[in-house]
Amino acid sequence: METKKKTRRPKRQQRKKPRSDASSRRIAKRPATHTATYRTVKKSTKDIDTKNPPLRFIPLGGLEEIGQNMSVFEYKDDIFIIDMGLWFGEDATPGIDYVIPNVESLIPKKKHIKGIIITHGHYDHIGAIPHLTTILGGDIPIYAPALAREIIKKRQEEYKNAPKLQIHTVKDGDTIRISDAIHLKVHEIIHTIPDSIALTIHTPVGTMAYCTDLKIDWKKDGTPTGLDVYERIHKEKIHTLFLESTAAEKQGASLPEEIAQENIELLMKAAQGRVIIGLFASLLNRVAEIIKIAEKLGRKVALSGYSLKTNFNIAQSLGYIQVQKGTIVPLEDIGKYNDNQILILSTGAQGEANASLMKIAHGEHRNVEIKPSDTIIFSSSIIPGNEQAIQNLKDDLTRQGARVIQSQHIDVHSSGHGPAEDLKKVIGIIKPQYFVPIHGMYFMRAANVELAKEMGIPKQNSFLIDNGNILDIYADHIDVSDETVSAQYVMVDGLGVGDVEEVVLRDRRALAEEGMIVVIATIDRRTGRFLKNPDIISRGFIYLKENKGLIEDMRKRVKTAIQKIPRIQSVETDYIKTLLREQLGQFIFNKTKRRPMILPVIIEV
Ligand SMILES: [Zn+2]
Ligand SMILES: [Zn+2]
Repeated sequence: METKKKTRRPKRQQRKKPRSDASSRRIAKRPATHTATYRTVKKSTKDIDTKNPPLRFIPLGGLEEIGQNMSVFEYKDDIFIIDMGLWFGEDATPGIDYVIPNVESLIPKKKHIKGIIITHGHYDHIGAIPHLTTILGGDIPIYAPALAREIIKKRQEEYKNAPKLQIHTVKDGDTIRISDAIHLKVHEIIHTIPDSIALTIHTPVGTMAYCTDLKIDWKKDGTPTGLDVYERIHKEKIHTLFLESTAAEKQGASLPEEIAQENIELLMKAAQGRVIIGLFASLLNRVAEIIKIAEKLGRKVALSGYSLKTNFNIAQSLGYIQVQKGTIVPLEDIGKYNDNQILILSTGAQGEANASLMKIAHGEHRNVEIKPSDTIIFSSSIIPGNEQAIQNLKDDLTRQGARVIQSQHIDVHSSGHGPAEDLKKVIGIIKPQYFVPIHGMYFMRAANVELAKEMGIPKQNSFLIDNGNILDIYADHIDVSDETVSAQYVMVDGLGVGDVEEVVLRDRRALAEEGMIVVIATIDRRTGRFLKNPDIISRGFIYLKENKGLIEDMRKRVKTAIQKIPRIQSVETDYIKTLLREQLGQFIFNKTKRRPMILPVIIEV
């Protein structure tokens, strides 16, 4: 297995160059990772065989996190991109909405970008489109399946400054022409949202298969379904398979959707009162199935949560969700029916602070109040990092007398990402020569390499690279280039890409619920030292006069945070601001369990 040791520069240096676009901040926060270098065949650009140029694969996101998926392919002068997603990042980053891929390296070449192909409508694949099309231009053709197209359009409208998009709809069997040398074929696959596709990429060096988010739908008796698409891909003689790795570590096969649905049906049947199911708004296949069950059992369905309603409307208008007349009722009307005739579908199964289920649990929901006879089903996996929030949410619901059921205890959820047995099936059918795991952190992708090995792909034919690395793919071999492009995180922090109503609303909520703190630090530009004691002003958080001790501790915290920055170069304001926001945010949270908005103001003298 060829692994490339990414030479990450030390943290401070990475933050040196301020972004021209003040809207986003760039921060690389993780330390260098890999140590295992089996064999490095690094080739620099000058070694590129210009007579037989390679297909270059340049991942800008998705290989060091679950999110911000974006793969760039380049052949001679032509560039095409697969997916443009966002990543919600780490929970503990106050003031940050999400992270998007860094497209710095594409800006000088933007006129060569021939197309952006979108595999499906999940935010980790489409979420960065408004931001990145603002940078790269709205005239690049986008190719997307119908459902993704509608979700993209809807989201683009929410960003007033984002350009109008040229979206072409693609479906199973279509061909996308990128240039004389390159065309792609569209293959529909199974995931948790309708209209999910894999791609085969036909190039002069060979045909690649790009198979991101997928699962196999197993029947209860253990027979897999929907494998013919991979047979079809195999027939195109695959040189390199790019395959998702999200659940590669997990043993076994996907839980049959049939079982998940049967269990939901049993629970719904047994419930004496209302049933409330918490799930992701993007889990549209599940939503469609659950509505069918509700119709069968004579329950009316009410939808709670903005994103769920939006997605439902889009999917219904495209015919992906079919509902009998009268099944869907407005939330305001649920009181008109008996409790055992009501099913509420709600967002917020991850314990998200402002989602509908949280409001219900806290008695803040306009139409729904928990009753002791309610059954609440969490039909989702727990995203790592959300455990505590989900436990608190379940606690709140249970204290009010409701019965809470989580998917770990009863199988009421089948993930959209196939585990080991699913992935092995796909690899075994496609039988590629080379293997590049994508969509996952390093350890997940390494687990995927092991699966490929079990399926007969020698380890030296598998490649584990990172965001910003480059693979030069030739007909008879693949090189890991020693060239890299910038893949440092670009944070969208709300104030940024601006004009977004949802962001303004979020800030208002944060201010209303938690208050704010302004830290004013006057710093010597050259030495980075304080010229006076930092000022701390608070509104709506605590009454300062009565909390002198806490304020003094906060001052100390600010001082030590700034003093710890090594003085190897001049200080960068954006960096200090982030540092203060993070450190002070964490400190205040530890002391008070609250997250006031923190606004650092740095005055350089
Ligand atoms: Zn997905
Ligand atoms: Zn994904």
